[in-house]
Amino acid sequence: MDLKAHIRAVPDFPKPGILFYDISTLLAHPAAWKETVDRLAKVIAPFKPDLLAGIESRGFLTAAPLALELGLGFLMVRKKGKLPGPTVPYTYDLEYGTDTVEIQEGAVQPGQRVVILDDLLATGGTLSASVELLRKVGGEVAGGACIMELSFLKGRDKLDIPFESLLQYD
Ligand code: IMP
Repeated sequence: MDLKAHIRAVPDFPKPGILFYDISTLLAHPAAWKETVDRLAKVIAPFKPDLLAGIESRGFLTAAPLALELGLGFLMVRKKGKLPGPTVPYTYDLEYGTDTVEIQEGAVQPGQRVVILDDLLATGGTLSASVELLRKVGGEVAGGACIMELSFLKGRDKLDIPFESLLQYD
């Protein structure tokens, strides 16, 4: 199945000049979405995860059905201030300013093999910050995967983990 045919490219979102790849149309098509989850399951199998992490917010949609299919636990990497109870933060640099991602304390046990999922890899900043956050609590980040990768931005060069994507855009 041609999964790219189920992804909508929206010009000028969220800002003029940005072409946004939207998985809403993929999610709305049960057969295409099932194939997406099955193909992700295949590419992450060699990473031998104990646990899957999803990055807010489309990473939740990507990782949660995969965790269910593989019989694994799932944890949320969220923007600062969204998770209840004690959290562990990691702050990283953006082009202008900084951003902070968090997980809940105790969400990862030291030595657990975690695979991180998101819908799309662009510059790699969000995914590499999530890697550092999971390492901060003793997680072993076994790999990462996304549905889409904007190859021309070379985000994977920023990652020091094995990384897989299903669809590449140049
Ligand atoms: P990065 O940190 O530059 O790699 O950006 C990746 C993050 O931005 C991911 O969490 C994506 O969900 C989001 N993102 C950036 N561009 C797009 C897009 O075209 N479609 C969907 N998500 C995007």
